[in-house]
Amino acid sequence: MLSEFSLIDTFFRQDTHSNAHTQLGIGDDCALLSIPSGYELAVTTDTMVENIHFFTDADPAQLGHKLLAVNLSDLAAMGAKPIAVTLALTLPRVDENWLRQFSSGFLTLAKQFSVDLIGGDTTQGALTLTVQAMGIVPNGHALKRATAHIGDAIFMTGKLGDAGLGLKIKQGYMHKDAQEALNRFHAPLPQVDAGLALQGIASACIDISDGLVSDLGHILKQSGVGACIEWEKLPFSSCVKSYIEQTGDALMPLISGDDYELCFTVPEKLVHCVPDNCTQIGTIEAQLGLRLLKAGHIDTLTAKGYEHFS
Ligand code: ADP
Ligand code: MG
Repeated sequence: MLSEFSLIDTFFRQDTHSNAHTQLGIGDDCALLSIPSGYELAVTTDTMVENIHFFTDADPAQLGHKLLAVNLSDLAAMGAKPIAVTLALTLPRVDENWLRQFSSGFLTLAKQFSVDLIGGDTTQGALTLTVQAMGIVPNGHALKRATAHIGDAIFMTGKLGDAGLGLKIKQGYMHKDAQEALNRFHAPLPQVDAGLALQGIASACIDISDGLVSDLGHILKQSGVGACIEWEKLPFSSCVKSYIEQTGDALMPLISGDDYELCFTVPEKLVHCVPDNCTQIGTIEAQLGLRLLKAGHIDTLTAKGYEHFS
């Protein structure tokens, strides 16, 4: 059986660093990062617990990918460029096969974004995976939640509801294009480039982790504004469209999480600067709350995304 130290050496230590900001990685009491002058350090952490955030039979490589992806997604939502991450692993036992696949999924995505794994902690207990991710953003340019203004246009990247459909499929819903939706659920791609491109354009931004209604709701609440989104404008993939047609469940893509697309607001005068692959889905309004305009009717959206302790 591997000791804690040879486990780290075997599966997590990298011989070279891919990010210029890493001065010292795994192996000392702390890692060292250099932060260029004129930049702020953006820091976030996310934990995934077995049976809460993932199923016991989850593919370890996809789990490693997703654990890192959800953290990079938070940096993307801040408009920050990821530089480094730490990894706290609590494992019930040392399963080398599981660790090999998990670290490969994790480190492959890390390499893709030139992010270094610079440290962590390894303990025994119920399977719990925690990442802390660090990124840099020019002083004053971070994309916050509390700064949306009345009249701003609301946009999102990508498509809405594919991951939610993937979860439905995992739970037994039959669909002919199952693989695409399942991939979106298991292996989301953090919208890092989109976040960076929105510096100086977006007035507020969030990543859609708990569902559009819930996450846009955070922007609205923290900014002290309301919004109306338009059904006709929502970007649905063909498989989500056919799910809605078959089931009549129009709410699913609005309240399901795990899409990890960005939802952001843009002042009217900067709308022409928004990248082409984003879709305007609504407008910020003075009237508090979130409304949906669908077939000429306006309904209030109060459905909640996933909340712990509720
Ligand atoms: P300490 O006792 O000083 O906390 P540890 O023995 O926990 O140090 O860890 C030794 C080194 O390995 C440290 O640099 C730590 O950051 C790193 N490390 C521990 N666990 C992990 C892990 N799961 N992934 C990456 N690095 C880790
Ligand atoms: Mg330690």
